[in-house]
Amino acid sequence: MGKSGCSFILLELLLLQCLISLGQGYDFFYFVQQWPGSYCDTKRSCCYPTAGKPAANFTIHGLWPNYNNATYPSNCNKNSPYDGTKVNDNQSTTLIKMDRTIVVVSDLFSRLEVSWATLACPTNNGTKFWSHEWEKHGTCSESVLDQHSYFEATLNIKDKVNLLHILEAAGIRPDDNFYKVEDIKEAIKAGTGYDAAVECNSDPSRNGQLFQVYLCVDASAKDLIECPVLPKRKCKSSIQFPIF
Ligand code: 5GP
Ligand code: 5GP
Repeated sequence: MGKSGCSFILLELLLLQCLISLGQGYDFFYFVQQWPGSYCDTKRSCCYPTAGKPAANFTIHGLWPNYNNATYPSNCNKNSPYDGTKVNDNQSTTLIKMDRTIVVVSDLFSRLEVSWATLACPTNNGTKFWSHEWEKHGTCSESVLDQHSYFEATLNIKDKVNLLHILEAAGIRPDDNFYKVEDIKEAIKAGTGYDAAVECNSDPSRNGQLFQVYLCVDASAKDLIECPVLPKRKCKSSIQFPIF
């Protein structure tokens, strides 16, 4: 066999090894956002986080590894508990020198507080929500994204997909009015280029309302993709978009 044939086989072996070690155990992610107005406008109500009432914008629920066959892994590594010091690694921490004191600004935490705000009761700073999401979902993509990368990648996707802006551009606003689910889906398709799934919940008067939006993201958590399988979520044909 010639030299070039040999290198070709070596390259193939290397590629194969890469694929095996990546062995990520999931096919893609659901990127799930929630409308805070709908989370709060329920019988159970909600609690604002310690940092105060979140802005009237969609916030992150999670980035969930999923299989193409609509099943999903969860709680993949008991030995990898949520660790705030890992989430906020030092390289991404900004040190600001003020007079003679150094103020440590943790860039990821401030982004999490804004974009991944917790609305569950009792009021807390978000750690409970983030640790639940890391332990249930994040540990299942740990071979690709460590804790810091998992949260950073999710925040970056959120920054790329301005759902509220997309809906408002189509005249769909959080103004307590009712909108057709089909129009909402069409607007998201026009704004992102991809089909989304819409999930509804009910307010205390049993009106259906826009609760969560599911988009799909490739296994490296970089780009939106067309969903290999859309989650089945039911909504009435016309739903409220509550003020927050
Ligand atoms: P629910 O039963 O309220 O739809 O979902 C409860 C939780 O199960 C979600 O918050 C999420 O953690 C998980 N879950 C539900 N459906 C899916 C799914 O299709 N894919 C993944 N990866 N997780 C899901
Ligand atoms: P999942 O449905 O993702 O399995 O579970 C979500 C968990 O995070 C629940 O225990 C829920 O109480 C908690 N949680 C804390 N804050 C929030 C929030 O703002 N939205 C949602 N959906 N769950 C939250």
